[in-house]
Amino acid sequence: MRKAIGVMFLFAVTSFAFGQARPFPGNDVQQIYQRLLPQIEKIQAFDHHAHPGYADDPDVDAMAAPPNASEALRTRDDNPELAAAAKALFGYPYADLSAEHAKWLLDKKRELKKQLAGPAYFNSILDKINIESSVANRAMMPDYLDAKRFPWVFFADAFMWPFNNEHETGRNPDEGVFIPLQEKMLHRWMQQENVSKLPTSFADYLNFISRTLEDNSKRGGIAMKFEVAYFRPTTFGDPGSSQAEEIYQRYISGGIPSEKEYRTFQDYIFRYLIREGGRLHLPVHIHTAIGIGDYFNLSQSNIMNLESVLRDPRYASTTFVMIHGGYPLEREAIWLAAAKNVYLDSSFGELAQYPSAFKDTLKMWLETFPDKITFGTDCFPYNQVLGAEESYWLGAQSSRMALAAALAEMISEGEITEARALQLAHAYLHDTAVKLYEGRVH
Ligand SMILES: [Zn+2]
Repeated sequence: MRKAIGVMFLFAVTSFAFGQARPFPGNDVQQIYQRLLPQIEKIQAFDHHAHPGYADDPDVDAMAAPPNASEALRTRDDNPELAAAAKALFGYPYADLSAEHAKWLLDKKRELKKQLAGPAYFNSILDKINIESSVANRAMMPDYLDAKRFPWVFFADAFMWPFNNEHETGRNPDEGVFIPLQEKMLHRWMQQENVSKLPTSFADYLNFISRTLEDNSKRGGIAMKFEVAYFRPTTFGDPGSSQAEEIYQRYISGGIPSEKEYRTFQDYIFRYLIREGGRLHLPVHIHTAIGIGDYFNLSQSNIMNLESVLRDPRYASTTFVMIHGGYPLEREAIWLAAAKNVYLDSSFGELAQYPSAFKDTLKMWLETFPDKITFGTDCFPYNQVLGAEESYWLGAQSSRMALAAALAEMISEGEITEARALQLAHAYLHDTAVKLYEGRVH
C-alpha cells in the first residue's frame, strides 16, 4: 500500500513537473469530449467564410457551379445528414429528402419567410446555430441580409480580365461558365463607378480599381476575396509596371492577348490589389483548396504557390486569409501561417470531410499555430430544398464537434489544460477572426 502511494506520488510529480505529453488519449477522452461540447456549442461564433442567400439569388457568388460537376461523397444531395439539418432547424419530420417529403420543407420555409420578413429570416437562422455574425462573400449584398450581422466580403478577381477573353473562355467547359461571369462582375464595378468604357490610360485603370476598392469599403465591405485559382495558375510573376502598361495599352481597345501576355498583366494587377489591401486595411481572402468543376487543376493552384507572395516583406502590412486552409494540403498550409500577417480559414474542410477526419486537421492546426486559425462554414444555397440554412447548420455542427474532439484528445494526452482548451475554442470560433477587422465586426 505504501509503495503504491509512493509510485502514484512520483507519477503525479513527474507529470506536473515535466508536463510530458503522451502519444495516446486516456480512457477519459470521451468524458472530456462530452464536457467540452456543450460549452463549445454555447460560444457565439464568427463565420469567416459563407455565401448566405436564397437559391434563386444570382448574387450569392461571383461565379456559378459548372454543370454536372463531380461531388465528393458528403457534399452530395443525398447525404442523410441534410435531413438531420432540416429537422434541427425546422422540425422536418422525415429521414430523407425525397421530392414528396421535400415539399413539406419548402412549404415550411415559405411560411417562415412570410412570418420573418426582410432580414429577420436569416438572422433567425444565425440565432439557431449560435453564430453572432457571418461573412457574406457575395457579388453584391441584398436587402434581405442584415449588414450588421452579415458583413460583406466582395470579389476582386474581375479586374484581372479586362481584355478580349475568347481564349480564356474557350480553354475548357468550366472556364466557359466562369470567365463570362468575371466579365459581368467587371461591368458591375464599372456601373458602380460610372465608368462607361475602360480608360485608355493604364494609370486611369489603376485609379478605377482603387476607387472601386475604396467605395466597396465605404459600402460595408470588410475584405476582398480572390477565387483566382479557378481561372489560372496561382504562381504569380513579378513584372514591372511598364510591362503591364504596355500590355494594357496594346489590348484594351481590342485584339486577343497571348496567354503569356495576359498572365503577365494579371500578375501585376494581383500584386497591385494586395498592396492596396494593405493601404486600405482590407484583408485579402484567397480561395486555397480544390474547387468545384472537373477541370479544376489542383497542382497549378496548390496553396504553396502563394508562399513567395505571403512571405514577401513588401506585403507585410496586408492581412491574408487562406480560405479553406489549402485543403487537401492543410498540413503544408498551417506552416504558411508562420508569417505574422497570414491566417487560415477552415471552411469547406468541415464539409468535405466527416468530423472524424476534420478533427485530425484541427488538432494538427491547434498544435502548430492555434492563434492563426479561424472558423467558417462555406454555406451555400445549393437548391430550394438544400439551402444556405442547412449547410450553415451542417458546417457549424461539424466544426464544433470536431473542435471538441480535437481539444479532448489534446487534454487527455497531456498537451493542454481544459482552461487553455476553452481559450483556444473561443479564439478559433470567434476572437482571432474578429480582431483582423479592427472593430468593424463583432
Ligand atoms: Zn466559398
